[in-house]
This record gives sequence, structure tokens and C-alpha cells, in this order.
Amino acid sequence: MDDFALLKLTPPNLQQLTSQYDEIAQSVESLPKNDFSTAELLQSVQKWDELRRHLDSWRNLTEIRFNQDTKNSDYKAAMDLRDEIDPKLTDLDVRIKKLLLVDNRREVIARQFGEQAVAMWECQVRAFDPIIEADLVEEARLVSKYNELLASATFEFQGKTTNLSGMTEFAESLDRDVRHASLEMMWGWFAENRETLDQIYDQMVKLRDQMAKKLNYNNYVELGYQLLTRVDYNEADVDQYRREVVDNIVPLCTKIRQQQSELLGLDPLMYWDEAIYDADGNPRPQGSYEHQIEQAQAMFDGMSKELGEFFHLMRDKNLMDLQNRPGKAGGGFCASLLDQKVPFIFANFNGTMGDVEVFTHEMGHAYQCYESIDLPLADNVWPTYESCEIHSMSLEYLCWPHMENFFGDQADRFRRIHLTTSLLFLPYGVSVDHYQHEVYKNPGMTPAQRNATWRKLEEIYLPHMKFGDLPHLPEGGRWQKQRHIYMSPFYYIDYTLAQCCALQFWVRAQRDYQQALEDYVALCRRGGTLPFQKLVHSADLKSPFQKGCLSEVAAQASAFLGL
Ligand SMILES: [Zn+2]
Repeated sequence: MDDFALLKLTPPNLQQLTSQYDEIAQSVESLPKNDFSTAELLQSVQKWDELRRHLDSWRNLTEIRFNQDTKNSDYKAAMDLRDEIDPKLTDLDVRIKKLLLVDNRREVIARQFGEQAVAMWECQVRAFDPIIEADLVEEARLVSKYNELLASATFEFQGKTTNLSGMTEFAESLDRDVRHASLEMMWGWFAENRETLDQIYDQMVKLRDQMAKKLNYNNYVELGYQLLTRVDYNEADVDQYRREVVDNIVPLCTKIRQQQSELLGLDPLMYWDEAIYDADGNPRPQGSYEHQIEQAQAMFDGMSKELGEFFHLMRDKNLMDLQNRPGKAGGGFCASLLDQKVPFIFANFNGTMGDVEVFTHEMGHAYQCYESIDLPLADNVWPTYESCEIHSMSLEYLCWPHMENFFGDQADRFRRIHLTTSLLFLPYGVSVDHYQHEVYKNPGMTPAQRNATWRKLEEIYLPHMKFGDLPHLPEGGRWQKQRHIYMSPFYYIDYTLAQCCALQFWVRAQRDYQQALEDYVALCRRGGTLPFQKLVHSADLKSPFQKGCLSEVAAQASAFLGL
């Protein structure tokens, strides 16, 4: 491939594209119902696949460029065009998927490419119908309204004007008064905007419920699962997993908080103390950016020949944009350029230990993508979200033996805090999920009832949390800051399902590092050819829906952290 910087953004010609899709559709439709030539069908599928890889690359490149430079008007215009074309592309694809799912075609496709792709198409076809198009537009409008409201929040704190993400930094200050005051101000803003935040969500819940019913689902929980193409587990499985977290991880987290309280000499440990793990503050990666990249190269070279070469390629072709700068969008992500057969990673290094976590995380996504990119169907390159996060989170742990490269003599502290925060995340993550099940199963709840529900769940999942005199939180309002609850229903638990698996890789790596690494690479190579639980079992991991899935992790973590 060319250097990433030289790639050109060429938007598709919609008219031409529609006729290409028509041609593919016609060639499939013209096949006899049963006794057709398999080769002819596969030829059409391959044409469609090439087209989709090309379109997907254009969509991702547009997004990457825009994120790299949000002030560039050409990139903004390209993004707007993409948003405009997107529903049309979905429509075109759904049309082909429908054609491929009938008669004997489904069987031929499943035999050739595996059951997973067709199972996903079935979800996608079922979860979309033109009768909900107007509702989808309204949903997008509500999402933007929520986003804009949060983006409009400004704070004058310690002589600085800052936004919500800027305020989060103060919550990690070593000065307890600063932590408390910053959180008081931030949650004060949520308290002031409670009514609007309640209203937006209330409208969203009713709208989503209505969409589900129009598509003949009993409620939005069912539609939500289909939209996430969850083909091999259901609500009851997820419920079982949440109970597993309550039984195995919540007591561990209570101990972690006790230990933290002792280390900090703060008793009781309050909500505003939670982001600080010991009196020295969180360790920071050492040296310049260039130095860190050299250290990363040494780390991957040390792990395996393939990983080392892969990182070389990422550097060589400029497939990374990791440094923070004005005008660049926030966050971190990995995106694929399927027609170039490479991934791209994006981050915003800011000098904290989070840089190394984000970097190793996104490299996990990138490596999996690279290893799967030649699989014969675009649908099989990336697995579903909960599986994707296994690759990213597990690589974070597999990089552990090399953390001296970044943190020197502070590497042990890094490892402790990394494991600690991963464990602490599990109960919070599942509480966010449990809340949404309650909400969408009872769409008639009032905003006050929803807040009371959230508070009740906090007592189950986060019993150690003490809000003291902070506003908004004691009334059950914390969920309003969790964007996924508004923007991506039911997605949040995917991070914890993946973490449950990644932690099993952590346990394995402690016992036999080489075996863990080999199993990890093999899992990456399977890409998205299987649904979540089958992928998990293929790596000899326990499914999160299996009783006892976290007991070994809990025991090992407890020993490691001296709890
Ligand atoms: Zn990720």
C-alpha cells in the first residue's frame, strides 16, 4: 500500500453505485430457484464483497481524516456527505442480504463462508424496515441534542475555563480539596440540567419502544440485542453473568476500596478519592514520544516476530496518529482500510499512564484486524463488539512483561493499577447494563422512577461508594453522564464481557506466557468467523455466561493484589 498520508478521499458516485448494486441483485435474482450454479452465485457475492470493502474503506478514511483535523472544512463536508449517503448504503446492502437469505442460496453461502455471516445478515434484515426510518431520524436528533448539551457544559475552575473532559483531570488531583470541589462543580451542572437530561432520555425510551413494537418485537430489549447482532446469547445469559459479577467481583472491589483507603490514609474513602490509587499518584510513561515508539518497537519485537513486523508496518506506512494536538478530535479508536488491507489507530496521548493503555488496546484491535483481513467475506474481518474487545484488552495484559520499557522502576505500580481499574470497572459496567434492561422493559417509568431504579442498582453493584455532600449523585443521577446509555443502548456490557475473557488471558499468561500468546494470535486469526461464545470456547476460555467464569480470575487477582 501507499503511505497513509497519500491516500485520496474519493467519494462514491451514488448513481454509478446504485447501478452496480442493481447489476449484482439482478444476477442473483436471475439464478434458478434451486438448481443453480454455485460458482455463479459466489461470483456475485465476491463482486458485492469487493464493492463493500471499497465503500467501507472510504467511510473509514473519511472519518479518520475528519478526526485528525476537525477544523478542516473539506473533511467536514466529506463527513456530512458520508452521513447523508449512509442510510442509502444500508438500504442497498439490506436488499442484497435479503436476496442471499432465501431459497437454497442461504445454505450455499453458509457452507462457503460459515454460519456466522448469514446469522448476522438475518439480524440486520430483521432489525430494519423503512417504516421506522422517520423514527431513526428522530433518534439521531435526540442523540445530537444530548451530545450538544454535554458539549455546551463549561466550567470556571482554578482560573481556567474548561469542559467536561477537562474537569475529569481535576478528579485525579493529589489535592483532596481540589478533587472534591471539581466534582461538586461538575455534578452541580448535571443537577441544573437534570430536567432536560431526563426529558431527552424519556423521549428516547418511548421512541425506541415504539420502533421495537412496529417491528413486532415485544420490547426494545429484543430489538437492541438484534441491532448488536447477538446471535448466540440472550437476556437470560446476560442476567446470569451480572449475578456472577455480584458474587465474585463485588466483594473483591469492596476489598480493593478498603486497601485503597488504607494506602491513602483516608477513612472513609469518598467518591472524590476513588480516582487516586496510592499517595504517589498514577505513574507516567517516561521519555519523548519518539522514545516511547522505539520502546514499543522493542516490546513487540520481544513478543514475537509477527508482532514486531506488524508494528514496523504501522510505523512505516504512517498508520498511527497518537499525539494530541489542537483541532484533533478526542478519544481513541482503530479503523480498518479493507481495500488497502491495513488498520489505522488513533489516540490522544497526554502524558498519563492511560497513553500506554490506549496504545496497547488499539494495537490489539489493529493486530486482529490485520490477521483477519484476508478472510473471504468483509463481514468476517471484524467480530461482533464484545469479541473485538477481547483482542484489545488481552493485548494490554500480554504487554505487561515489557512495561519497564515505558515506566522503568514504576512498572509494578502500573501493573497493579491497571489490574485494579479493570476489576473495578466490571461492577459499574454491568450496573449500566442492568439499568437499561429495567428501563426498556418498563418504558412507562417516570424519570423519578428511573433515577430511583439506578440508585437501587448502585447499592447492589457499588455498595462501597459514598457520595457525601455531592449534588445529583445521591438522587440517582450518575447514569446521565454515561453517554452509552443515551447513544448506544445495551452496548456497554460488551466491554465487561470482553474483560471477563481478557482477564482469563491474564491468568493464563501468569502461568504460561508463551501458551497465552499463541492462543491469543490464533484467536485473532479467527476474526469474526464465529459468534461470541464459539470464539471464546475456541480459545479455551470460559464463557462469561457460564457459572463460575470469574472465580479463578478473582482468586488470582486477589493474590496478586494482596487482598
Ligand atoms: Zn476497544
